[in-house]
Amino acid sequence: MSQCEDWKKLPLRYPGLIVSGTSARGTVKIKGKWYRLRILCPQFPQLQNARLELHQPHQNKFVRLSNEDLQPDWTLHDVMDNLQQLLQKHSELPLNDHWNNETPTGNIYQEIASIYAPEKYHLQLNDACSRVRFSKFALNEKHYLQVELPTLRVSEHSLPDCFVWEEQLQKYNKLAAMVQQFQKYLEDLQQFYDNFTDIDELCYVVQPTAPISTKHNWRLFVLRERVYIKLVITDPFAPIASMSLRIIGPTQAVEELRRTLSDGLRDWDAELDIHKNLLRIFDLCYFPMPPGSGWIGSGDEPIATDQQFCNICYAYHLDQGEIPIVSCDNPQCTLIYHASCLKEWFNTLTDGRDFLSVSFGACPFCKTKLSTSFAELLEN
Ligand SMILES: [Zn+2]
Ligand SMILES: [Zn+2]
Repeated sequence: MSQCEDWKKLPLRYPGLIVSGTSARGTVKIKGKWYRLRILCPQFPQLQNARLELHQPHQNKFVRLSNEDLQPDWTLHDVMDNLQQLLQKHSELPLNDHWNNETPTGNIYQEIASIYAPEKYHLQLNDACSRVRFSKFALNEKHYLQVELPTLRVSEHSLPDCFVWEEQLQKYNKLAAMVQQFQKYLEDLQQFYDNFTDIDELCYVVQPTAPISTKHNWRLFVLRERVYIKLVITDPFAPIASMSLRIIGPTQAVEELRRTLSDGLRDWDAELDIHKNLLRIFDLCYFPMPPGSGWIGSGDEPIATDQQFCNICYAYHLDQGEIPIVSCDNPQCTLIYHASCLKEWFNTLTDGRDFLSVSFGACPFCKTKLSTSFAELLEN
């Protein structure tokens, strides 16, 4: 049988297949299993560089058959007969960029119907059918992905801000592939989120101000009275390798603790998460907890349980939820300020000096040097 005949006769053997031009698509039953697939033979009637696209109920697999997969005398029937082995062999293959050059065939709404998977995520289509939103992903409840139709532009998502996800996701010109990739990201980001979970649950996180979202890649939390740790993870796929840890507080305390931290970082235990490593480094059983949650101090000395007001605006919470955490280097001066109130305060000073240069300036009340690191509190 010639290759040409072979191609045309394919639907006779597999009635679910529709052959058009150099591609065939449809549903086939092979060795008792059903597959929804598409085959492209760009060099038809040769099988060289053939591509196989498998649509499973909730995911797509894309396989580019390499020439070594194919026996020289193979016809398409042989490809179909060996489908299971071929898919198995290529099961680890990620989506191949070559696929993106293909014009999407079929109807986008049909595709939406095909990826409806209530056990994996909620799928909502707006009334105008111009936007689809995936949310409440299994094991990742807070995550969501919103895609405009039919352009497949990502308009909203829940992934960390420190990376341009839109660009990556929009490389796929199939909705199913986008969602699959999104779910893959969620898996890959597990360690990133796990590291923050313990900090959120077992520390007094003062920034970002609540609600902390899945998009935040940093935390500022209490180490001890007037002293804070700022953790930033810049590469969410490599949380430990890319993390930065800063101590923020009165200069003297910061200097001591910074030494403890840099010594401790040298024997970081890769088996433990960031939270547990920090407890080890600072020789603590617990980090201080928020007021009202029992406020577990690190030692015998209880940490102040009262909410201390900002001594510029006399409020505790600002509109954005910010609380006063900046203090000066004078241990006798117990006044604290909101970072943003200090910024405003300095801006109104008549000498008009630039804020950043005066961030190394003096406490508005006792005139002692302010903690050197507080400008950083305004960065985010
Ligand atoms: Zn204030
Ligand atoms: Zn002061």
